[in-house]
Amino acid sequence: MAEASAGFVRPGAKSLLGEGVFLMTVDQGPDMDRYQGVTAIEGETLALCAEQYFAQSEQTPTRVRLAVGQSDVGEGLKWRAGGVLIQNIAEDDARGPTEEAWTRTQALFETIGEDELIDSLLSSNHLLFRLFHEDGVRVFGSQPLRAFCRCSQDRIETVLKSFPPEDREGMIEADGKIHVTCEYCSHVYAVEPATLDQAA
Ligand SMILES: [Zn+2]
Repeated sequence: MAEASAGFVRPGAKSLLGEGVFLMTVDQGPDMDRYQGVTAIEGETLALCAEQYFAQSEQTPTRVRLAVGQSDVGEGLKWRAGGVLIQNIAEDDARGPTEEAWTRTQALFETIGEDELIDSLLSSNHLLFRLFHEDGVRVFGSQPLRAFCRCSQDRIETVLKSFPPEDREGMIEADGKIHVTCEYCSHVYAVEPATLDQAA
C-alpha cells in the first residue's frame, strides 16, 4: 500500500483496508452467546471504526483507543499492542445522572499516551489507577486471550456438501482439489472432491 500511504505519516483505516467492512465480535463470557455486528469502515482509525460500531449498533456511548508499536525492555525490540475501551452506563434512579462522570472520564481518557498502552512495564491496573484513582478503581479478574477460530476440515466439507455437485465441479482447481480459505482466520483448506460425494 505504498501508493495509498504516500505522503502520510500514518495512513488511515480506509486507505489501508479499502472496501471492507468492520466486524465486531462481542464475547461476554461463557454464560452469554457471542454475537457479531457489522458496520462500514468509517473513520480514519480502527478505534474510530469501533466507536462508530457502538454508536450505531448498540447506542452506547463508547470510546476506544488502540496502539501498536515496538518497545524494548531489555530483550530487543518487540511488537506490542494495547487498547482501552470506556463506556457510559445509562443513568437510572439508583445511579443518578452519569453525564458529568462521562465527560470527566473522557477527559482523563484523552490523556492516555500511545506509549502508555504498549508499555510492558506499565500494567493495566497501574494505568487505571493513574487515571481514575480519585473516583475509586475496582478491578475484576482478567481472562487470557488467544487466537481461535471455529473453522475445521469437517465444517468446510459440510459447507461444500451443501452445493450442488455441478457447482462443486467448477470449484476444482488444477491440483484436483477444492481450496477454501476461511475468511476469519485465513486458514486454507484443501478438500478432495471424492470425499464430498460420500453420504453426508
Ligand atoms: Zn478459520
